[in-house]
Amino acid sequence: MARAYVGLGSNLGDAEANVRAAIERLGCLGTLRATSSLYRSAPWGRRDQPAFVNAAVALDTELDPHALLAELKRAERELGREVGERWGPRLIDLDILDYEGRTLEGVELTVPHRHLAQRAFALVPLTEIAPQYRALLARLDPEARAEVVKLAPPTG
Ligand code: ATP
Ligand code: CA
Ligand code: CA
Repeated sequence: MARAYVGLGSNLGDAEANVRAAIERLGCLGTLRATSSLYRSAPWGRRDQPAFVNAAVALDTELDPHALLAELKRAERELGREVGERWGPRLIDLDILDYEGRTLEGVELTVPHRHLAQRAFALVPLTEIAPQYRALLARLDPEARAEVVKLAPPTG
């Protein structure tokens, strides 16, 4: 059994409902141990798009990292994500933020997520359920942190 942290994001359609549906779907991939609040965040990378709804979950899973990634991609498709630009608008995005504290640097999969340390929208929900990331979040610009606003309490 491994502890994975998965980051969720959506900025198309009913973004809040998309994130909630994805959280429910992630329960099929193992045991959900913790779910963060939902947050609203300013878009990252490309600013000319709607705001995102973000969350993070702690998932205990028997899937190895690549199998987990494959399942996350399958869940994205099933939830209606279409192929689009990187950092562009999307119905749902499911990223592995961390897998059992391991370091993997492959073409297909990098963990911890390669931009985690630069992303308040990932670190703010993550630190809510994984306090060990607080030091990383504290290094971010307070202005970037302030762009991530709590929307709704955890589901379930
Ligand atoms: P970013 O990776 O910067 O958050 P993105 O989520 O918009 O950008 P996608 O188009 O969803 O990017 O994914 C591109 C590829 O990133 C995926 O096909 C996947 O193979 C790869 N990838 C590498 N590391 C990870 C990870 N930790 N979690 C999810 N996907 C990853
Ligand atoms: Ca992403
Ligand atoms: Ca992704």
